[in-house]
Amino acid sequence: MRGHVVAIIAVVVAATATREPTLARQAQAQSPQQYFGFRIGTDGELARYPKILEYLQHLSKTTNRLQYKEVGKTTMGNPYVLATISAPENLARIDRLVEINRRLADPRGLTVDEARKLAEEGRAFVFLYATIHSTEVGNTQALTEIAHRLVTENSPYIKQILDNVVLLVVPSQNPDGQYLVVDHWYKTKGTPFARVYPDLYHKYVGHDDNRDWFMFTQIETRLAIGIQNQYKPIITHDMHQMGSGGARIFVPPFDDPYDPNIHPILAQGQASYGMAVASALVAEGKGGVEWGNRYDLWTPARQYMVYHGQPRILTEIASVNLADPIVNPAGKNVPFGAQEPRANFPLPYTRSDWRLRDIVDYGVTAAFAGISHVARHRTLWLENFYKVHADWVNWKGKPYAFVIPAEQRDPFETSELLDILRIGEVEIHQAKAPFTAGGKQYAAASWVIKVAQPYGAFAKTMLERQRYPDLRLFPGGPPKPPYDVTAHTLGMLMGVQVDEIAEPFDASLVNVTKAELHGTVFPPAPKWAYVIPPESNAGFIAVAKLQAARVPVFRGAAAFDLAGKAVAPGAWIIPPSSEATRILSEAARATGLPVAAADQPVKVDAYRLKPETRIGLWRGANNMPGGWMKWLFEQYGFNHRVISSADLSGELASLYDTIVLPEGTSRDTIVRGLDPARNDKEWSWAYGVGDAGWKKLADWVRNGGTLVAIGSSVETARALLDLPIEPILPASSRSARAAGASDASPSDPNQVLRDAFSSPARLDAVLRDRVIDPTTLFYCPGSLLQNEFNTAHPVGFGMPAQWPVFFESDQAYRLKPGFAIQSEVVARYPSRGPILQSGWLLGEDLLRDSQVDYRTQPRATFKLLFNAMFHGPSTHVPASELARLTGS
Ligand SMILES: [Zn+2]
Repeated sequence: MRGHVVAIIAVVVAATATREPTLARQAQAQSPQQYFGFRIGTDGELARYPKILEYLQHLSKTTNRLQYKEVGKTTMGNPYVLATISAPENLARIDRLVEINRRLADPRGLTVDEARKLAEEGRAFVFLYATIHSTEVGNTQALTEIAHRLVTENSPYIKQILDNVVLLVVPSQNPDGQYLVVDHWYKTKGTPFARVYPDLYHKYVGHDDNRDWFMFTQIETRLAIGIQNQYKPIITHDMHQMGSGGARIFVPPFDDPYDPNIHPILAQGQASYGMAVASALVAEGKGGVEWGNRYDLWTPARQYMVYHGQPRILTEIASVNLADPIVNPAGKNVPFGAQEPRANFPLPYTRSDWRLRDIVDYGVTAAFAGISHVARHRTLWLENFYKVHADWVNWKGKPYAFVIPAEQRDPFETSELLDILRIGEVEIHQAKAPFTAGGKQYAAASWVIKVAQPYGAFAKTMLERQRYPDLRLFPGGPPKPPYDVTAHTLGMLMGVQVDEIAEPFDASLVNVTKAELHGTVFPPAPKWAYVIPPESNAGFIAVAKLQAARVPVFRGAAAFDLAGKAVAPGAWIIPPSSEATRILSEAARATGLPVAAADQPVKVDAYRLKPETRIGLWRGANNMPGGWMKWLFEQYGFNHRVISSADLSGELASLYDTIVLPEGTSRDTIVRGLDPARNDKEWSWAYGVGDAGWKKLADWVRNGGTLVAIGSSVETARALLDLPIEPILPASSRSARAAGASDASPSDPNQVLRDAFSSPARLDAVLRDRVIDPTTLFYCPGSLLQNEFNTAHPVGFGMPAQWPVFFESDQAYRLKPGFAIQSEVVARYPSRGPILQSGWLLGEDLLRDSQVDYRTQPRATFKLLFNAMFHGPSTHVPASELARLTGS
């Protein structure tokens, strides 16, 4: 303890000693207006991201309140930056302050008195970031003014903030998008071209980049989680923009429902911060602040922080046309949308114009109001941070734990799941010996995740089944749509068996920091062939590598016996060679892929994969599912290319064996595509292919090409080929998330309801609308539904007989009766038993005995997509030929 005291005194002395030169340095710090050459928020002008980074470096060199750090590189290789702002005395002892945060975050062995002392000694770390959605440009602009004021002003107000708060500022959570969007904005100035960037502003996931905070697939997510885990902030403020009608800014508290795993203290923290912001805005006469509406707090996809002891503060400010002002289209002197005062909307906004500078002003006020509120009650916030974790550590509720059995169909996805938990700082134990829990026997090496741990909230919400509340717009009325999906049960999404154990049990456990993979004993080279069972997704990683190395790959067309063990249909059969041995042993080591050896040929028909199967991806401009698919294909190393409209003027068969149409690929996006009059030649790949191209695509399929359509693209394929299927569900409104849109929700239920009651005629029209007739209702906003699979079919190879499939306002189909062409059903909803496994489903019976379309995001069903992609171009090989073809 003495060592600490000495160290602190030394720091204070050092800070005092540098005070004189500091004042001199502060005088040199330029204002944003001086530095950028225009006032931030000026109509039509945007400070560019690289220059913003230069400006933050300028502030770090000219003052002693800001530390600039490049934390890493983004997906496209741009700098991802953290600026830490606080009083120099706090910056000088930041390691000690972080140590306090860590101790409060894991309070095991800490007494209440010790915790209180630490809360008094500690400082409140606030994580503040902007522009995860790159077209929501205003808040990154605002951060330049926020930073400048904090590092240059010497008022008691700013001093109180700096003394009590350590601000972790990420100027943009998606820097690549700032380059793309702002550069495009200036490049198109004075041209006939569209000013808003026409494609995904994050290379892979576009606007979905804030739906990644529970699976951590993207680099930027991991960089932000790295900051979260390193510093352990006690609050996160996430600055967004929304649509431009109605409210000017949304602040917490959120709308229903809240995930019940969010600690009530955090819910109250959100309300308290949000009200501080609302009060400040109203006091400044800034109208249009709203809370308790529109944005809910259900899915962890957007809210890592609430499972890590922090209130999540979302501010959503009304948008303009990127940097150009908007005037209410309803006319001058008409305010935007509904502006009647309400309990959660105290001060209407009365102007009929809205400008970038307004966004900056609202953003600056919101940030300062929130941060100074935290600064004034610093000790209380730190004590609450401790209490949340203390309650999780002392969890006595149900379940006691989750057990992940050692034996899994897919060791690769099992290790991926454990990795996600580990990134979320969940403690994982492994059993040293067999044990019994919940009346079931578990083998040694099974994993145990106890809920009683600092981040038990994250473990519980990711591993349990979601029971979404049956929320209605009014009693007996239509469902109130959630803001996002309703199910995220990781085991189901990833094809991993996870058991919920209600009561405490005894087992000999060790804490593990790395998942040891099972089944990785690699066999000696066989005389006939390597055999890989079809259950692991990692089989496809190996196949992509084998194909790239021109190693032939076969799949068993049916089940067979190997050394007395049954191997499921679709097993991979690979002739031994030094290349095959190298690739498979590496894959086995890296992914836990089980590889067996067969010295004698097995008697089974097979399919020979087309060497180097060429996959075309119809990514489409600004289609998020296409971007996700691109990322997925790169992860698996598939031999693929993004289809360019120019491909349709040549011979498709010379380019592709399989073409994948991701969700969201419509006839219109294919035929019309991007408009050449509004988009420069660099976008020619996404121009429409016209009716001739559409016909060429249909001919390519009829001549043997394999078309794999996903989600809404099934409708496109049905139109292209006149498929013998028909939709069975009533037309449902698709998810509100239009590609690349801001966070405006066109189907915002409360807005729909307000509109409905705006006039008697309007209400009549709404009630006539079949979609809100509760008796014909089908509603499934992103849930996990039970499916039965035909695992003997090449598209169902490797699937379990039953597993839940993710369904988000999708369609379901049945075969039209009486069609002569051959079509087969691979997956269907069960005739009896519960369909809903996790989330929310209304109208279950409409699905009985119908088939599903494919959806790729959940890893449990990747195999359906991959099987289809590779099977189409493959050729049938009789057993007698297989016996000869393989072997050296
Ligand atoms: Zn947003």
